[in-house]
Amino acid sequence: MSAEALSTDRVRINTPATNGDRLWGDIVSTARFGAADKGGVTRLTLTEEDRRVRDWFVAECRALGCTVEVDGIGNIFATYAGEDMSLPAIAVGSHLDTQPQGGRFDGILGVLAGVEILRTLEEASTRLRHPLTVINWTNEEGSRFSPAMMGSGVFAGALALDATQALADREGIAVGTALDAIGYRGEARIDPAAFSAYVELHIEQGPLLEASATEIGVVTGIQGLRWFDIAMSGTEAHAGSTPMAQRDDALVAAAEIVLAVRDIARQNPPGVGTVGFVDVGPNSRNVVPGSVRLQIDMRHPSEAGLDQMEAALQQAVGRAGARAELKRIWSKAPVVFAPSIVDAVRNSAEALGYSATDIVSGAGHDAAHIATIMPTAMIFVPSKDGLSHNEAEYTAPEECARGAEVLFQTILEIDRR
Ligand SMILES: [Zn+2]
Repeated sequence: MSAEALSTDRVRINTPATNGDRLWGDIVSTARFGAADKGGVTRLTLTEEDRRVRDWFVAECRALGCTVEVDGIGNIFATYAGEDMSLPAIAVGSHLDTQPQGGRFDGILGVLAGVEILRTLEEASTRLRHPLTVINWTNEEGSRFSPAMMGSGVFAGALALDATQALADREGIAVGTALDAIGYRGEARIDPAAFSAYVELHIEQGPLLEASATEIGVVTGIQGLRWFDIAMSGTEAHAGSTPMAQRDDALVAAAEIVLAVRDIARQNPPGVGTVGFVDVGPNSRNVVPGSVRLQIDMRHPSEAGLDQMEAALQQAVGRAGARAELKRIWSKAPVVFAPSIVDAVRNSAEALGYSATDIVSGAGHDAAHIATIMPTAMIFVPSKDGLSHNEAEYTAPEECARGAEVLFQTILEIDRR
């Protein structure tokens, strides 16, 4: 055996491995902060429950030798020193807040896997070349304060700090006040340029990995979305005395559009289209409907796909004539993750011998904001029955462990570059 092969073997042998049992222990034990009745977690952002899990996270990271910083929106950055502190840090993370009666895995897995990697490095008395920062983003869920993905949005410069601190919940409590109440309005000004890459491990929150018995999702991006409102007008008329040929029925016209939305999505795979809201006027059994409002949600991983779907929707609305009015009320561009980081995830899953498939996220994540300021990618692990935002949300211990292993391997690959 050549000296070179020997040294390569040594490096492999010396690479420490994450401990899936220890990670699972953290998932189970931190679920006590906001434990819900059916095994899930209710831990809305910036509440007392959130403070307790944050305090736990900070204490664990400090005990592992990390420097912990908190910025003005309460994002927590725990940094484990690298051999070369002049190098930009590699960042991993996600969020510790949940929906009401949420699960034990959504967001939480990504932060706790980061902690497990810190434990692994510390236990082996090893450092990466780069510093490694584990991040907990504030208010990913958007359940108490809107918008969702708030902390990452402020960090990425998509949301202004002052205006965001002033936003209030339903009780009129401002974000800034809530940060003060739990002691997490920090002073740190963290420069995004201090990071070289961001990798977020997350549960899929959908059924694809489970259905195809695939262990790891290599997330190539996050689909974009467009929201439309349509107002249809017809003529209210007596349901008994108005002959069929003389009706101007707004709901029948709207029904054509509902079917068109389904067909448009089917014709533009993997796009999806939904009419989730219908308001009929006057909504009375024996009156021909005179007005209908529809709310439409269309999503696609590419801007071109979204453009095609929108153009087809305009045509469908055009067929309904002057009585239909279409308005685009909101849009979010698709996110395409950095190929170099996506490749690192794919290579890592392969090196570990796990089945993997490219996948586009159907849901929004903090990584969407972070992708605008640094090379970013995500790793998905399966969600049982595709369930999330539900106490029954479940990812098995070995699935969580695989996710952490791929996350660690990805960091190691980025660190070697
Ligand atoms: Zn999440």
